[in-house]
Amino acid sequence: SLPLEALVQEIKWDAHGLVPAIVQDESSKEVLMLAYMNRESLGKSVETGQTWFWSRSRSELWNKGATSGNTQQIRALRYDCDGDTLLVEVDRQGPACHTGEDTCFFRTAAQNSSPEQRTNSGNRFAVLDELERLIGDRYAERPEGAYTTYLFDKGIDKILKKVGEETTESIIAAKNGDNDELRYEVSDLIYHLLVLLRERNLPLDDIMRELERRHERPRRD
Ligand code: AMP
Ligand code: ZN
Ligand code: ZN
Repeated sequence: SLPLEALVQEIKWDAHGLVPAIVQDESSKEVLMLAYMNRESLGKSVETGQTWFWSRSRSELWNKGATSGNTQQIRALRYDCDGDTLLVEVDRQGPACHTGEDTCFFRTAAQNSSPEQRTNSGNRFAVLDELERLIGDRYAERPEGAYTTYLFDKGIDKILKKVGEETTESIIAAKNGDNDELRYEVSDLIYHLLVLLRERNLPLDDIMRELERRHERPRRD
């Protein structure tokens, strides 16, 4: 990767010594926010691995999440063709927007996409990402009365039993030729698999990487 001094040279800083930085969720690819960096905040971002910006309204350095706890760990730092925009891919803790919304771009001014596309802004598997995040919150906080809390409190054997049951029920649904039943049972199975992965501390990203690795391996037929 590029040394900081070289990166600073590559960036086309504006008249105020700032560059816009688009922040994107590394796993869901959702665009989270836009903020500005100056040389110092870029340096701190590179140095700490967290996002630091320059607040134009408050005229001060700003470490995202310093007060809210909703920090962002930098996974990749990119800059565009003409060096006037940064793209920061992050692993986020909590919402990116100070309103509590996941992304700052929760307001829609116009939309011309099909109804299917509309249900899911771009990423077909965004709900898996959301579900993994929710299960992670349940694991950490154990709210009373939640089914996921019950599973974690019962432990690994209960979770494995559920995975087994849902697998069997999926098989039966497929054998019955009933796709409504199959959709329901496979959804249960995927949810319980995500609970199992959380219990075993194996991130879904690791599964995705494994699938990608297999997919990329050249085949000799
Ligand atoms: P935080 O950095 O999340 O601890 O929030 C501290 C302050 O930064 C908030 O009170 C807002 O003024 C500002 N802020 C946080 N997140 C955003 C954002 N996504 N866009 C604009 N301002 C923000
Ligand atoms: Zn550009
Ligand atoms: Zn916002």
